Amino acid sequence: MPGVDGPKTTTFALDKAGLDRLIAALRRRGYRVIGPSVADDAVVYGDVASAADLPAGLGDEQAGGRYRLRRRDDGALFGYTVAPQGWKRHLYPPRQKLFAARRSAAGFEMLPPEPPAAPMAFLGVRACEVAAIAIQARVFGDKAYPDPGYGQRLAAAFVVAVECAQAGGTCFCASMGSGPAVSGGFDVKLVELAGSGRHLFLASAGSPAGTDLLAELDAPEAAPGDVAEAERQVAVVAGAMGRTMAAETARTLGEHAEHPRWDEVAKRCLTCGNCTMVCPTCFCTTVEDSTDLKGEHAERWRKWDSCFTVDFSYIHGGSVRTEGRSRYRQWITHKLSSWHAQFGSSGCVGCGRCITWCPVGIDITEEVAAIQASRK
Ligand code: SF4
Ligand code: SF4
Repeated sequence: MPGVDGPKTTTFALDKAGLDRLIAALRRRGYRVIGPSVADDAVVYGDVASAADLPAGLGDEQAGGRYRLRRRDDGALFGYTVAPQGWKRHLYPPRQKLFAARRSAAGFEMLPPEPPAAPMAFLGVRACEVAAIAIQARVFGDKAYPDPGYGQRLAAAFVVAVECAQAGGTCFCASMGSGPAVSGGFDVKLVELAGSGRHLFLASAGSPAGTDLLAELDAPEAAPGDVAEAERQVAVVAGAMGRTMAAETARTLGEHAEHPRWDEVAKRCLTCGNCTMVCPTCFCTTVEDSTDLKGEHAERWRKWDSCFTVDFSYIHGGSVRTEGRSRYRQWITHKLSSWHAQFGSSGCVGCGRCITWCPVGIDITEEVAAIQASRK
């Protein structure tokens, strides 16, 4: 796992064959390489064996309640912005077996846990996603009650970050201070330069493991002009985002518990929970126990849940949050406001997924802006 601030290192220039060598070198080290590919008309982060598996020449169009893949004419391999599902589902799987037990002469006996899975290498982690991983690492690294599974998976992982070459239609990472430049939290950082007759991946290391990997690829140093072009590219992306978050209002959102805006948003919100499922920092879960029909074998599973379900706030005879307004208010005030006191930062990295994948296009930045406008 990389440190937060990567050291300054040489920048190398990889071509597509060089990227293939990078993937092969990760696989030789025993990593399960997970990167972008296409399934069900969307970019998904799944197993990749070579650069041929990546979504060549595909970009995405994202807007409130809308996602479409589109063709690009530059052959870019990382030409999309973010996939619907982030890296959370690999570091913090939607279903995890907590333990299994079987009946024995003594009552019951706990079965040994399953052996850890192969370490993962994440290829194509965006700046906002690096920030989201760091936020979840703080959540699950709680000193009193750490989540050992998350910590072990992250400690064993290798992160290949890829800087964004365009702003997505719902992104606002620049105003959250979480992107689009990747400044730490990676083992290797790539910047793709595609179009104008060239296709390069500028590669630099952010950890000793990254330095070791790049040294093996036999790649030339990047030309100063290409390094300057990479810096210009990310500066253009930072200035091209169509949304901003009103930071001070967001941070103090908890002070507006009775604001009439909650009734207005509740008229549109379906309480479907999509926003929480795609959010790379949401972490709520429920626990389910099951037994076989004979009562000989029992298992306990932890499953993703959402603060938008009625059951989530069910305590001794009823749900605390029965209305849509209180469930939406709970989600957004925790994410943007009380998260600061609990975990030392905002819980939002500005990836825009909750806007894109909300079926009715509710926009977290618009809701905060509406409350800000009413204060004036
Ligand atoms: S709240 Fe929305 S924009 Fe913020 S991190 Fe979650 S999904 Fe991304
Ligand atoms: S805000 Fe949108 S995605 Fe979230 S629960 Fe409401 S309707 Fe579903």
